[in-house]
Amino acid sequence: MEYVSLGKTRLVVSRTAFGSLPIQRVNDPAEAAAIVRAAYDAGINFFDTARSYTDSEEKLALGLAEFRKDVVIATKSAARTGADLRRDLETSLRNLGTDYIDLYQLHNPSFVPQPGEPDGLYDALSSFRKEGSVRYIGFSNHSRKLACDAIDSGLFDAIQYPFSYLADNGDIELMKIAADTETGFIAMKALAGGLISNIPAAFAWMRQFESVIPIWGIQRRFELDDFIELERNPIPLDDTLRKLIERDRKNLSGSFCRGCGYCLPCPANIPINNANRMSQLLRRSPTQQWMTKEWQELMGRVKNCTKCGLCAQRCPYGLKPYETMPAHLRDYRSFVRQYGEK
Ligand code: SF4
Ligand code: SF4
Repeated sequence: MEYVSLGKTRLVVSRTAFGSLPIQRVNDPAEAAAIVRAAYDAGINFFDTARSYTDSEEKLALGLAEFRKDVVIATKSAARTGADLRRDLETSLRNLGTDYIDLYQLHNPSFVPQPGEPDGLYDALSSFRKEGSVRYIGFSNHSRKLACDAIDSGLFDAIQYPFSYLADNGDIELMKIAADTETGFIAMKALAGGLISNIPAAFAWMRQFESVIPIWGIQRRFELDDFIELERNPIPLDDTLRKLIERDRKNLSGSFCRGCGYCLPCPANIPINNANRMSQLLRRSPTQQWMTKEWQELMGRVKNCTKCGLCAQRCPYGLKPYETMPAHLRDYRSFVRQYGEK
């Protein structure tokens, strides 16, 4: 396992970090804890979660209880006032069974908080740090402009930003600015929300950038094993992988839906984060899983879209799901026949 410093912090973290959003979906907490423990045993020492990932913090605590001092734990809060942030911090500390968070991040705020502002957000972060309940503070965001402003402000030790081999020149530039200013750069959505299915290619591409720490979302043991194997035997970014990446970039880059879900909730209960990229999901993952009765019912909701526009207002990538969710998704079965496995 390789380790690097996170920006100019004193945190030394494994270059394969454990993204804990998916362990929400592991029903048995003991099974989730066993996956977390296996990650630790393999040398992973950096675990990222969030207050909004339901029971993910508790499952992490279960797996890491004996090793708290040996690991780096990052969590996030979507609070928008200092008072709410303190409440969230107390909940996270309780859930994680610890008295300090290594990296406490603001979760996708729509502005960069400043000291002395009436919302009290940044002042609360500063006081947590003084009290010792938080070691370093971070800013997690999907907006390149806000991420850049956060780096420029010099107020944050690390940023977390979507970064994968589909990144455009602006994203790469942002990563370089973070490196130049020694701001930690944590890559979320390193598999572009499930659109990238070639793990070795994603891993090899990311390894080019020593300052980037990808957090790989892990739900199952075999997913963890893939990353551990790549850590043991890293493969070079050779011509074959470069060609594959180039093909994916051609097919997927640009205004594609990342599946982040920030457009939700939808008043018509449409699962926009999947509906808006269903043609890609069908091409890139086994068709059968999208053909269950449950998915047919969920996709059937698309016809109830009222074009209220709420999703477009919330989408950090400027997408208009009510226009891009294909009209033919209304006949889901024939849509699957068109895009699914032949
Ligand atoms: S439409 Fe936008 S906000 Fe919604 S899932 Fe896709 S990228 Fe995210
Ligand atoms: S425009 Fe349609 S998909 Fe978007 S929030 Fe409104 S009802 Fe939902």
